[in-house]
Amino acid sequence: MDIQRGNIIVMDRRRGTLRAGQGLLQGLKVVWDHWVGSFRKNDNFSQIHGTFTIEYPDERMKLPQAYRNMPVLLYDDETGQELCTACYQCARACPPEVIHITQAKDPNTGKMVPASLEFIIEYDACMSCGLCAEACPFDAIKMDHFYELSTDNRMGLMQRKADLNRPVSYYTSIAPDLWDEVKEGAMKKLQGSIKRRPDVIGIAGHLSEKIAARRRQLAAEAAASPPAPVAAAPAAPAGKLSPEEKAAKLAAMRAAKAGGAEPAAEAPAPAAELSPADAKAAKLAAIKAANAAKKAAESPAAEVPAAPLDEKAAKLAAIRAANAAKAAAEAPAAPLDEKAAKLAAIRAANAAKKKSE
Ligand code: SF4
Ligand code: SF4
Repeated sequence: MDIQRGNIIVMDRRRGTLRAGQGLLQGLKVVWDHWVGSFRKNDNFSQIHGTFTIEYPDERMKLPQAYRNMPVLLYDDETGQELCTACYQCARACPPEVIHITQAKDPNTGKMVPASLEFIIEYDACMSCGLCAEACPFDAIKMDHFYELSTDNRMGLMQRKADLNRPVSYYTSIAPDLWDEVKEGAMKKLQGSIKRRPDVIGIAGHLSEKIAARRRQLAAEAAASPPAPVAAAPAAPAGKLSPEEKAAKLAAMRAAKAGGAEPAAEAPAPAAELSPADAKAAKLAAIKAANAAKKAAESPAAEVPAAPLDEKAAKLAAIRAANAAKAAAEAPAAPLDEKAAKLAAIRAANAAKKKSE
């Protein structure tokens, strides 16, 4: 227990009374343990406690996976595609604002694409906080373990994209567990980004020529090889129409619609010899239909052509007139009466059409 009296602190160690020379022996034991321990080889420094010395640079400590020094950018080993999409999240998160990004554009359209044209980090002002790596939604920027950055060239610490780029395999070698946690999502997002980039954009600079050469080689091989047999188009699933079937159906519907719009133009069935009473009835039906169409066309509602309801009424009248004409044509009628009925129906249909337009 410590008892404080003014500025004097009295320590009560409660260890009993030491015999003469006992304290000296205890101190010597500590020295002895350290001296003996110095001959023991131990590569795992994390198991060594307390202060110790290693023979740097011949001997180096194995760093923890989460150790962070300076940020670097990742690209896919196989395709050379950079994971960065130039979303600026890291630049916004950086406290000393040492990240500078220029987004790439599609050379054909001039539109922005999810890739960086240039990416600069001022290493001399970076404080290794790791906030950029935390903020990156694409796992494109990670904290490196490399710490031998001393230089007398300050401008050399202005790291450009070409200096920052590292393959994913490099990060896997220094932080395998951390990469395993995010690998699946990161590679999935990369595939999504690649789809929205032109071929030549977003590829690690030193690999672009190599990858372009590989693409040329593949294209030449494909051109030299005989064309593969064209696979049959997959059958449309049950309940769904193939594009060809859809087009055919649409054409049939259009034809039917066109035919329905001009029913009166259709040639009537050849009329048989009719009695005078039947011919009279047919003529009367045609006149009634024509009158009905005219009435519908002249009604106040039909005078507002833009309204869909009026169009409907006019169309209905035309259809009625056409039906009446058809009925008259199908009914046994004298050739002269039949002609008159047809003419009346055509006139009625035309009047209705004109009004609806
Ligand atoms: S580690 Fe920190 S200071 Fe350095 S670039 Fe990233 S956010 Fe900025
Ligand atoms: S490194 Fe990440 S956060 Fe920064 S711009 Fe690229 S994708 Fe966005």
